[in-house]
Amino acid sequence: MSMHDLSHRPVEHTHSSVGKIYLVGAGPGDPDLITVKGLKVLRTADVVIYDNLVNPMLLRETKPDTLKIYVGKRAGQHTLKQKEINKLLVHYASEGKIVVRLKGGDPFVFGRGGEEAEELVEHGIPWEMVPGITSAIAVPAYAGIPVTHRDYAAAFTVITGHEAASKEDGISFDWEALAHLNGTIIILMGMSNLPIIARQLISYGRAANTPVAVVRCGSTSEQQSVIGTLENIAEQIQQAGITSPAVIVIGDVVHLHHTLQWFQPLLASDHTKHMPDDAFTSTDD
Ligand code: SAH
Repeated sequence: MSMHDLSHRPVEHTHSSVGKIYLVGAGPGDPDLITVKGLKVLRTADVVIYDNLVNPMLLRETKPDTLKIYVGKRAGQHTLKQKEINKLLVHYASEGKIVVRLKGGDPFVFGRGGEEAEELVEHGIPWEMVPGITSAIAVPAYAGIPVTHRDYAAAFTVITGHEAASKEDGISFDWEALAHLNGTIIILMGMSNLPIIARQLISYGRAANTPVAVVRCGSTSEQQSVIGTLENIAEQIQQAGITSPAVIVIGDVVHLHHTLQWFQPLLASDHTKHMPDDAFTSTDD
């Protein structure tokens, strides 16, 4: 079946007094990286509730009368904000609306999509999940780094840099296991804690010269990569002035960047351009 056929097959909504919520992954940055199904539901939405990692170009796909609500989170306000977002979702669904909850990457990868879905279940609201392409895999791919490779890594672990730091003082993050697992380590929301993370991994036995890539604004015209080692990456990103949002990739697969780098951000079309920098920075680090 061609893409054309796919995108013209309608999505069947069961319109009733209670609406429906679609938790939709917007993909990592380039708006073309949303799924066909994600785009279809976006085009039929009455309400779109979106985050700061969502490329605003996608909002142009909505119907003219679609209500678009930005709920980008500010640092330090996550908990309160999340409650408000949950309330919004329940509110519009109760009005019988088709609501698209649009989140960057995949909603279930550090996107609190799980929590939002639990809330919907609790209120008996019909919902569906439309997975997205997570930045954890797509951003390395756009820097020419396969997360696994038969010669370099048979596993990959995706972690949040936030958790890593908050649990540094003792509770439960198992640095030792992570350091010893012979696979690629992918860190989201890790920019401010990168120095701590790199130190921990070295202290638990990862070689100081393990290659590290930091890729900012992946799959957009602003993509930037810095390549270093566990020992020097913190200094390198400071020198390069690289800030969040960035995906950190640690492991031998990073060597492939030099051979497989295929994406040329400067030649990427303007529509891949992301939100203003500040919209990004406040989210995570
Ligand atoms: N649900 C999202 C992740 C949300 S956490 C997903 O599946 O991709 C937010 C973090 O994702 C950011 O701090 C950054 O580490 C990463 N991220 C998201 N989009 C990115 C992009 N285009 N370039 C680099 N990092 C990105």
